[in-house]
Amino acid sequence: MPELPEVETTRRGIAPHLEGRRVTGVVLRRPDLRWPIPPEISSLLPGQVIEAVDRRAKYLLLRTQAGTALFHLGMSGMLRVLLPDTPVGKHDHVDLMLESDRVLRFTDPRRFGALLWQMPGETHALLEGIGPEPLTDAFDGDVLWRLSRGRSAAVKTFIMDNAVVVGVGNIYASEALFAAGIDPRRAAGKVSRERYAKLASEIKRILAYAITRGGTTLRDFLAPDGAPGYFFQELFAYGRAGEPCRTCTTPIKVVTLGQRASFYCPTCQH
Ligand code: ZN
Repeated sequence: MPELPEVETTRRGIAPHLEGRRVTGVVLRRPDLRWPIPPEISSLLPGQVIEAVDRRAKYLLLRTQAGTALFHLGMSGMLRVLLPDTPVGKHDHVDLMLESDRVLRFTDPRRFGALLWQMPGETHALLEGIGPEPLTDAFDGDVLWRLSRGRSAAVKTFIMDNAVVVGVGNIYASEALFAAGIDPRRAAGKVSRERYAKLASEIKRILAYAITRGGTTLRDFLAPDGAPGYFFQELFAYGRAGEPCRTCTTPIKVVTLGQRASFYCPTCQH
């Protein structure tokens, strides 16, 4: 599943081709993805200039004067900028034609992705009430410490809660907890302020590194030229059950927390 680093990598890849360009047409090859595609995509978006391509949580926001188109990649979605004569595949559901004689194509075999619309000055319901971006100054250890007081949920489940901080997916939560030496099963309310400061800085470091590498998870993504689009990052905990800890050689354990597989070193993390 594309996580925040893959979405940010996608944003950085497509933004230079979109910003300042006019949308000359929209091709919808089906009426819905995860949800129905709203009529404004066809009625308001054509003719608009894309002023900015932003990201909030795992949504990509194409901002225009008439409103903002929101893309979500879901489980298997992909956005590419292509030449307009690129053959259309069976999972190519949406094309935005650009005046630069390019097309922004949304491909999504599993159709858990989304294309939505947000009117100017409004915030889409899906973006209402979500936590800060992890790579901004609005997120730090004090935010985690304050919100966690009195909470008995496992710290890993807590940091994966979008109301606390957005975009910390399962892989990055496991890796950040390993790097901070915190047992993922520990109650969120029982982690000290100092340890949350370390955890927040590890979340930032690991996400930022993943972005520089293009993300970790889309191992089967192929760029239009057939080259792998993403690199696999060296993982310390995630997916390594039974393998020796890279720090102390104790076998990595796996436990289910919040219905997610959670990997940790029973010696290094407490
Ligand atoms: Zn260890």
